[in-house]
Amino acid sequence: MEVTASRAMPGHGWVLTACLLLLMGLFAALVSATQLRPGETRPIEVGTPSDGVVELRFELPAEATTRWALWFPREPVNRLQLVAADGWRSEALDFFSVGADEGILPAGYAFLLPRNAQGPIVIEAEIDGGLHGSLRPVLAQATDIRRVERSGVALAGAVYGGLLTLAALALALAYASRDRLFIGLFGFTVALVLLLQAMNGHLYGLPGVRFFGLWQLQGLSALTLVHAAAALWLIEAYTMRGRRYRHARLVRGVGIGLIALAALFLLNLPWLAQVSQALSAVGWTLAGIAVFGMLADAARRGVSMAWGLTAATALMVLTGVWVALARHGLAPEGPLLHYGYQGAAVAFALLLALALTHRIGDYRDQRDQDRLARQDTERKMRREAARADLSTALQTQLNGLDPGEIPWQGFRLLMDHLLPLVPTQSCIAVLRGYQGRDHLLVEPSDALPSVEHEVNRRGLILRRQATAGLALQQPVRPSAGGPVVAMEALIPFQVRAPGWGVLLLRRAGGEGFTTDEMSVIGELARVVQLHVDQAAAAVKLRRSAEIDALTGTMNRRTIDVWIERTFAEAERSGRPVSVLFIDLDHFKSVNDRFGHACGDECLREVSTALRSVLSEADMFGRYGGEEFIAVLPGRDGAEARAVGERMRTAVENCEVRHEGQRVRLTVSIGIATRQRGEDEPAAAIARADKALYAAKRQGRNCVQVAPAVFS
Ligand code: GH3
Ligand code: MG
Ligand code: MG
Repeated sequence: MEVTASRAMPGHGWVLTACLLLLMGLFAALVSATQLRPGETRPIEVGTPSDGVVELRFELPAEATTRWALWFPREPVNRLQLVAADGWRSEALDFFSVGADEGILPAGYAFLLPRNAQGPIVIEAEIDGGLHGSLRPVLAQATDIRRVERSGVALAGAVYGGLLTLAALALALAYASRDRLFIGLFGFTVALVLLLQAMNGHLYGLPGVRFFGLWQLQGLSALTLVHAAAALWLIEAYTMRGRRYRHARLVRGVGIGLIALAALFLLNLPWLAQVSQALSAVGWTLAGIAVFGMLADAARRGVSMAWGLTAATALMVLTGVWVALARHGLAPEGPLLHYGYQGAAVAFALLLALALTHRIGDYRDQRDQDRLARQDTERKMRREAARADLSTALQTQLNGLDPGEIPWQGFRLLMDHLLPLVPTQSCIAVLRGYQGRDHLLVEPSDALPSVEHEVNRRGLILRRQATAGLALQQPVRPSAGGPVVAMEALIPFQVRAPGWGVLLLRRAGGEGFTTDEMSVIGELARVVQLHVDQAAAAVKLRRSAEIDALTGTMNRRTIDVWIERTFAEAERSGRPVSVLFIDLDHFKSVNDRFGHACGDECLREVSTALRSVLSEADMFGRYGGEEFIAVLPGRDGAEARAVGERMRTAVENCEVRHEGQRVRLTVSIGIATRQRGEDEPAAAIARADKALYAAKRQGRNCVQVAPAVFS
């Protein structure tokens, strides 16, 4: 399977930034909907708080139809109640216990003023416990207050929903990528949702978790620390992945310290209540600075999206510190600041999710590279194995073949080993005058007739391409100028001129062969040719050692080997064997009269004449000089005599012509038959020799059979 790298989105950094800006714009639009417009509020004079009581002075117009309301941002207080000079008391609201009629996710504390309220009014706000430095009230018509409250609900719902979706996505990514970092992202996001819900006072109104209000400010502090620890751990893992980081232990130690402190807060110890806010602020700030440092370092190293995260961290730390200071009345505050922190936290989580997801792309690239490398190695191994297999097959299967069969078998093996490696539509090996013969191999073989025709038609061009010696690919068009139906790889064989040879592989369609495939084909073709040439040379060498060069019959060495085998076999089977010694008569005078060349021609002609008498099972060779030997397995003396007579006559009837001269020759033949118990030929050969001598003495041109006992 081919692995293709995913196509990168052009300028995707800018696209991403633009999308993030769009998201931030939508968020800002939601935030602005939670604010009253300048003309909708009436001025209030806020007195200095003393003993948890703040005096509020304002004036309401005399309009019977308008209902007015006082609205406070939802800061953590244990009790907030309004008392008018005329004895009117509002209901008491509590940050840590959301009243049933406040609705789900209230954005602030809303108090409806009495219907008849008009003119100058003095109201005391009784504030009990918690942090109320920034409890700046807003006076507006009840309908407007209700509108911004509803917008607040929508905003909070959007933020929580978004974060919960992100957490679910983190789980899906953890499952898909099997990377624990996404479990970390899940934990971080859930901790952030809980923290934001606690900060906004929404956690205490939700069924199932409102018990969290029991811990009051300490619970809020604990959640702050858990979130800080989660951020610390996650950012450490994100920025330092695969590196040895010398502060890693310190970072983890701080994280564990934060969690331990959070656990301590949950013990709800009264003496801790006073300092829990300060402690958590310190822990949170420390963690923020560490996160900032790690991210800035990662950004310098070019870790993806680290700059964006650094900026989001800086924004979060700044707004967080600002919110904390404002709560203690140490910094100017405003509703946007409150949401600014939450916005920065959400942006941070979002960027972190994007950054981690971006890493999946990195893993995938890495994995693709690994896979390509592995495929490459496998391909090389397969190729090497095929080469080795082919070599072994060639070594074992070309051995002992008839010379004419060696190339055929070699190229057959080439196709058998090549085609599984390089799939093709057809494979053709054409060889002309290779080792004295023409060869045409076709796979699949049923295409042979059409291929034969085609090769003959293309003969001249193929020959030119073969002798050029270059492997190439060319398109196959059934008709000139027609569409390409296949690609053809042409690999020339090394054949001595005037012979030539090519291997043609065809693949349907215009896809063609890869460089790698071309090199495999060339390599295997070379291996095969090497083995075929070697096997043919070996056969030639063996032949030259076995065969008499002048007559092309067996030489003495070969005869000796065969005659020994025949005698041993005959001794086992008890069958007769006869040996015939044939010597040309007065051959010296032939040489003398007609010359040596003529003598050689005579030897060849006589050899042919003698052999013509023999059957397949008989052995015949030149024993030396002008002496021949024949071994007739399964024939006794009488039968051998008959054969000998036929030999003698054959020579007698044969006339040798050499350069206009006519020579007639005769032979004398001595015959001996194996006797029982003779498993060695020496004695029989000696008897045949004696019989030949007897034939010579008899006057030549006759046959003599050795008697059973000859001395
Ligand atoms: P005979 O056997 O009838 O007694 O007479 P001969 O002339 O054949 O005598 P002999 O067998 O002793 O001589 C063998 C001759 O054969 C000697 C040599 O000139 C000739 N001869 C041997 N080997 C070759 C060969 O390879 N080529 C040629 N042209 N002549 C050979
Ligand atoms: Mg002789
Ligand atoms: Mg002789």
